[in-house]
Amino acid sequence: MSDPFASGWGTGNKSGPGAAASPKLLLRRLRQALAAPGDGQQRLDQIVTLIAQSMAAEVCSVYLIRGQDTLQLSATEGLRREAVHEARLKIGEGLVGVIARDGRAIITAKAREHPEFRYLPETGEEQYSSFLGVPIQKLGRMLGVLVVQNEHPTSYTEEESEALALVAMVIAEMAEAGTLIPRAPNDGEEDAREPIHIQAQGAADGVAIGPAHLHEPKLLLPNPIAEDPVHERVRLREALGRLRTDIDTMLDGNDMADTGEHREVLETYRLFANDRGWVRKLEEFIVSGLTAEAAVDAARTEARLKLGTANDPYLRQRFDDMDDIAQRLMRRLILPDGDRAMPTDGAILIARALGPGELMDYPRGTLAGIVLEDGAIGSHAAIVARAMEIPLIVQAKGILRAGEAGDEVIVNGDQGHVHVRPREDVVTAYEEKLSLRMQEKASFAALRDLPCRTLDGHEIKLYMNGGLAADLPSLNESGAEGVGLLRTELHFMLNKAMPTRDEQANFYSHILDKADGRPVNFRTLDIGSDKVLPYMKQPRESNPALGWRAIRVGLDRPVVLRMQLQAMLRAASGRPLRVMFPMVAALAEFEKARGMLLEEVERLDMDVPPTELKIGAMLETPSLAFAQKRFFDLADFISIGGNDLMQFFFAADRTNERTAGRYGVTHPAFLSLIRMIVERCTESDTELSFCGEAAGRPLDALALAAMGVRAFSMRPASIGPVKRALLATDLAAFRSVAEEAELARMRVRDALIEHCHENMIPI
Ligand code: PEP
Ligand code: MG
Repeated sequence: MSDPFASGWGTGNKSGPGAAASPKLLLRRLRQALAAPGDGQQRLDQIVTLIAQSMAAEVCSVYLIRGQDTLQLSATEGLRREAVHEARLKIGEGLVGVIARDGRAIITAKAREHPEFRYLPETGEEQYSSFLGVPIQKLGRMLGVLVVQNEHPTSYTEEESEALALVAMVIAEMAEAGTLIPRAPNDGEEDAREPIHIQAQGAADGVAIGPAHLHEPKLLLPNPIAEDPVHERVRLREALGRLRTDIDTMLDGNDMADTGEHREVLETYRLFANDRGWVRKLEEFIVSGLTAEAAVDAARTEARLKLGTANDPYLRQRFDDMDDIAQRLMRRLILPDGDRAMPTDGAILIARALGPGELMDYPRGTLAGIVLEDGAIGSHAAIVARAMEIPLIVQAKGILRAGEAGDEVIVNGDQGHVHVRPREDVVTAYEEKLSLRMQEKASFAALRDLPCRTLDGHEIKLYMNGGLAADLPSLNESGAEGVGLLRTELHFMLNKAMPTRDEQANFYSHILDKADGRPVNFRTLDIGSDKVLPYMKQPRESNPALGWRAIRVGLDRPVVLRMQLQAMLRAASGRPLRVMFPMVAALAEFEKARGMLLEEVERLDMDVPPTELKIGAMLETPSLAFAQKRFFDLADFISIGGNDLMQFFFAADRTNERTAGRYGVTHPAFLSLIRMIVERCTESDTELSFCGEAAGRPLDALALAAMGVRAFSMRPASIGPVKRALLATDLAAFRSVAEEAELARMRVRDALIEHCHENMIPI
């Protein structure tokens, strides 16, 4: 960084160029001033005075955020002193409010002509024309705005803006450490301790109550300004060395043997920890005058600004991984022994975002729930949380500001509610809900070993859906008959590069070992639409759900599909193998994919080949329900992918909240389609199951079973509730209710719900 402070900004300055100081000198002065005794307000006053002098600015002011959405003038050099603690702006209001809202600097030579300008008469700022304001923020958390102003309309430079941003970073660190923020009367702090309810998105089901544990405990930097940059550089290098050794040790650890996902995450971390560009950036910040830990934080804040809001899932994932490793480095610097407070059992983890590696670092069983300020339902961490059955909320805007360590937090992953410091009656209501759930869980466990037979004697098979090694223990816990849908793409999604054939074969073999003779339907790679592989180029499409995805990619890029089929065949040496192709829309596609698999069998060079091979298809497109009879004859088994089938049947995007809830399984048109598929499978003697989300909803599962579906695959946690409902139902009676309601032009769903209530069927 060149030295914008060296010359001031020329004409119009009261102080003149001679008074300007270098940023390093300013930082040193700040350090000295802040070491002296004084309260928060005195320190803030000193800071603005020093900045004004060093930058030859006529005005320097700090605005701090108070309460939820207000910025308050907290210290000033140059504006009217009486306005301190009085002048307020809403976030988004005026230039200062816009900086706080957008997290970006504003530079203008003619502040009054700027469209966002808002005049605060009490400050007397109308005479100042040049304006440079930068956000005071730490890791995406907005704390305030730092502004310099001059009378003369000369525009500040980018370099000056960068230099002021460096000072703002120091202020942010100090604010966070509590050495700076003066408490003003009525500043809304009281309000912040009130109960807070956040409506967000549930990404993993379940309810939990527990004390908050901050994933990023406030690592306080007592003084972010370095006394001796050479010493800071040495500290940084030592900490990086320790970090690299720790990662290597974890990679060499014995517990890595069968946890492929974890290993890949750590290998990516090793790459980042050795990334030269990143280390150079950290050293640059140290040269600018920051301590090693402040430099790491500054680089994190900068990266968050650049990448943290990116919509591209690939960029977001890179950012989360990078942030994860930076956080580890910070800990090494601040707590050299690597100590890290572990949460008490039953804690609710609060974080901005979470990498899958970080989540796996928490010992299994300690976390009762997770709340993320950002995060996405389809993120890797969400996949792992679901596999670990930890209720998870994402996009809980404001949670980082609202939640303090130890606060009581309720997580309702079913409906996406978060309650921080809830009122007594809310806690009581949730405690009742939890105790009911525990009782239900115990009653489901009691059902586990019973055969699933309906009141009128139909045997129904219940399987589980899975995708990760971590899912497999649920086979025994839930009593599932096998894995009805193994989403192999999840293994691909957790990898940072395309898994090799051997890696895939090891993974599939591990799954078959754990299944211990129970059937597993290996679905070939189903990517495209919302499932993105960071390392595979996917064309931009205006309608990705209807685009180049799943089997279409497999047939057009046969190398990847063939490699996967070879891996499956190898994994199944000496045992039966079931392979299922996703998103088949026409007989020809199935014939082609099936042909490829049979060719691989021919080519197979194995001492012990699979003992049996069953080849099936997902029925996810309406066209396949109407396919030629040959399709039904050729397929050994068919699994209805209700999530996609419904979205295409009703033309209703499954990821769009506005359309997704409009239609459902119990719609007469969909029930007719199911009846037809059941008839066609019966006619061809083809095994049929249903593996969409609806399989796990008791009422929907009953309706499907009443239409003749005899096998379902669902999340393991849904097996108990679905089995309980099936055991209490006469399917013939249930079907009559649906058909009569249809004839009487009643809403079928309402009639079915009423029937369940009358017949004590728990749905
Ligand atoms: C489905 O579409 O119902 C299905 C099970 O596949 P996925 O949800 O993985 O698309
Ligand atoms: Mg699907």
